[in-house]
Amino acid sequence: MTALGRRRWCGNEFRARGARSGVEGAHVAVLLGFRLLKVRNLRKERCDVRPRSVWKMLLGVERAVVEDVRVELEAIVVSVRPKSREKHRCGVCGRRCAREDSGEGRRRWRALDLGTTHAYLEAEAPRVYCKRHRVVVAAVPWARHDSRFTVAFEDQCCWLAVNTSKKAVSQLMRVTWRTVGSICERVAEETIAQRDLLTGLKRIGIDDFSHRKGHRYLTVVVCHDTGRLIWAAPGRDRQTVEKFLDLLGKERCEQIELVSCDMAESIASAIAERCPDAIRCVDPFHVIALATDALDEIRREVWNQARREGQKQVAKDLKGARFALWKNPAGLSERQQHKLAHIQQTNKPLYRAYLISQQLREIYRVSYEQAIRLLDAWLAWARRCRLPPFVKLAKTITKQRPGIEAAIQHRLSNARIEQVNTQIRLITRRAYGFHTPKALIALAMLSLGGLCPPLPA
Ligand SMILES: [Zn+2]
Repeated sequence: MTALGRRRWCGNEFRARGARSGVEGAHVAVLLGFRLLKVRNLRKERCDVRPRSVWKMLLGVERAVVEDVRVELEAIVVSVRPKSREKHRCGVCGRRCAREDSGEGRRRWRALDLGTTHAYLEAEAPRVYCKRHRVVVAAVPWARHDSRFTVAFEDQCCWLAVNTSKKAVSQLMRVTWRTVGSICERVAEETIAQRDLLTGLKRIGIDDFSHRKGHRYLTVVVCHDTGRLIWAAPGRDRQTVEKFLDLLGKERCEQIELVSCDMAESIASAIAERCPDAIRCVDPFHVIALATDALDEIRREVWNQARREGQKQVAKDLKGARFALWKNPAGLSERQQHKLAHIQQTNKPLYRAYLISQQLREIYRVSYEQAIRLLDAWLAWARRCRLPPFVKLAKTITKQRPGIEAAIQHRLSNARIEQVNTQIRLITRRAYGFHTPKALIALAMLSLGGLCPPLPA
């Protein structure tokens, strides 16, 4: 029998790339038991890569010197030190500073696992005196300030938090979901500081939604042109919107052309004051939502009346008709169509309310001139329909008419903002377990603001 020669098995990938250490195309074989490191540089046909360089590649460490490697219990601990020109830099601003003291001695940073084994970097963590930031722990090239994890570990964690499930990221990285939250906060903060997300904004959408029970809200700002989330903060009052406008600054506020928002007076007044050239458009989604609410109020009223009068079957039919009334007629199932036809025959006020609410949707589907005519007709119909919720809605729409017309005229594509809002709601549900809204905002910015770091390469 002939021998098949040496074979290779693909194991867990070690996050090491030749490009980082300058050894391109190097293949690393770590023999089990950590007895020996055997390295062969395929491109140069040489076998002289030093084990220390291999450790740097495996751990993705740059601008540092590997001093020693040891196995402790079930983890690999690699002692490192920053290269001399990286030493004694302020942890916040990175300026070179004078050494203050040795701080709390040696510290450990969790690195990406090596195969199935935990790995840590260990180094001195002296404190330095920075003129701006006073006494701070010195920066290290392999980790962010104030973090117990390496940069590669945090980047991978963020990538997984954005692209996979809560369970997958916690189990794969072997950290709690709460830790993932604080990692996201750190990475998002760093990326936002490096990139200016507020340049060249012309058409923005401001919206708010509840992220937790007990009236806890987030205000979000989305760019209509890129469809990206550009800012988010807890709260939904005038002060919150002003925080964003402060950040934008006077000059950039004046460049804003269109702002889509709901009908809240707080946002409208802040925008009118600070962005003099901006046209305020009332978000079509909010207008439709008001019509849906009015329709539902009538449905509930009719239902209660039927129950009071002991018409059990009518009450039952109405309860099941909720979705048929809400949905776009084109998307109705056969059963829902029957329900609607039944209502048309048996319940005139409710069917009238249904037609009025559907007619309002229509103004967003036709041309501007047609929409204006349709809106006039709609208002006249709603005012005299003898259905109090719609009479009230007609008043609101008359008051908000300039904003509604502007939204139709400028064809503000609401779909994009709606998509971002739907995704934020999904993220909100996933972010349950994060202890602050800051972590939720960070995850949303990483996912929807285009800030997610690539996988460490
Ligand atoms: Zn500093």
